Amino acid sequence: MPTLKNAAGGPSAGPDVRDVVTGVIADIRANGDDAVRKYSAKFDNWSPESFRLSPQQIDEIVATVPSGVIDDIKTVQANVRTFAQHQRDSMHDFEVETQPGVHLGQKHLPIVASGAYVPGGRYPLTASAHMTVVTAKVAGVERVTACTPPLRGQIPPATIAALHLAGADEIFVLGGVQAVAAMALGTDSVGRVDLIAGPGNAYVAEAKRQLFGEVGIDLFAGPTEILIVADESADPFIVAVDLLSQAEHGPDSPAVLITTSSALAQRVIEHVEAILPGMPTNDMAGPAWRDHGEVHVVSSLDEAYALADTYASEHVQILTAEPRLALSAMRHYGALFLGEGTCVSYGDKAIGTNHVLPTRGAARYTGGLWVGKYLRTVTYQEVTSESASASLGELCGRAARVELFEGHARSGDVRAAKYGGAPLPW
Ligand code: NAD
Repeated sequence: MPTLKNAAGGPSAGPDVRDVVTGVIADIRANGDDAVRKYSAKFDNWSPESFRLSPQQIDEIVATVPSGVIDDIKTVQANVRTFAQHQRDSMHDFEVETQPGVHLGQKHLPIVASGAYVPGGRYPLTASAHMTVVTAKVAGVERVTACTPPLRGQIPPATIAALHLAGADEIFVLGGVQAVAAMALGTDSVGRVDLIAGPGNAYVAEAKRQLFGEVGIDLFAGPTEILIVADESADPFIVAVDLLSQAEHGPDSPAVLITTSSALAQRVIEHVEAILPGMPTNDMAGPAWRDHGEVHVVSSLDEAYALADTYASEHVQILTAEPRLALSAMRHYGALFLGEGTCVSYGDKAIGTNHVLPTRGAARYTGGLWVGKYLRTVTYQEVTSESASASLGELCGRAARVELFEGHARSGDVRAAKYGGAPLPW
């Protein structure tokens, strides 16, 4: 049985990952494309003539994808687009006259160039293409550059098709730190972007963390986590299957069950142990469950929600008799999945909410990727009344002098003096 422990930690990677990432970024900063090529060969054994796919290559790759897969990609992208469009429609620009002649406004401007990182080291994460590119395009991003690694030396066709159908403007088969650094810093062959979005392994997440500031990032979306809150009404087989659905992401993926029923806990553990050996992705899910699996039995649902909140887990699934109670009871999660009718995999692959979500406790301060991450909320102001400007000028002059800002004060003074307020004091 997995040990009981609290997995909540900081979003920073361990020293090994940190040092590798620091070195790769420094080399790419100094040597551009040559260094990008060196690390792609080293980490991915991948060194094509050009990392960027030409339009002809894209067409040829898309043509190899079965039509049923293309249809499903289009359906999921439509679901993601519908939800993202509702998010966009909920963000209103406004202008308000706060006092006669004083007009203050707020509007949302799309980022001009964004980078979409679509993971692909272990699995070709086609769905991340929908999440990053469709959402950016709904926000109005002009240029979307997409990077995805080769999968065991091969270009992942369904991911390329998804990127193309989602509207990516440039597609590079390039992964890991080298992709993130190339997009953040710009090289001769990869144009610099303003913001990088998308999930990834510890190296990708650490690269985004180290480059933040020089480039915007969406959030810290590292190795996947699942936490399930269940009561005695839950189906233990479904709980076990759902825990493993996320454990298979990688050996570093936590899978946590918090339940009010010790009988359910026992049954779930038995099911997990029975399912794992025959699971094709046992090489990931097995170590994840062994090293990062946790089962907690608590005495009430209130206690379960409170404990769950301390994890600030990426995905929280509620399998209780009244799942909607969690909406008001819980405060820290990336996404909430209410009741047996849905599951984390629906969010990951199909339903339309965004699957790029905060991990390692980052849900304490951010939600997941959404259309607003690609928009800058900017403000503007105009004063059309001379008397309003005069009185603001006097107020500004006094406020600035408290802070010893004589230059600021004088910008207020000259307006006050010109528009009928106090004469110049200097
Ligand atoms: P990835 O594309 O993130 O990483 C692959 C790259 O890692 C490779 O291209 C390689 O360059 C680099 N790399 C691998 N080993 C390295 C090493 N030793 N040194 C330097 N670089 C190295 O693909 P992945 O590995 O399959 O990971 C995907 C991750 O994304 C998983 O951890 C999954 O849980 C996570 N994920 C998170 C979310 C979220 O929203 N939080 C969503 C989906 C997936």
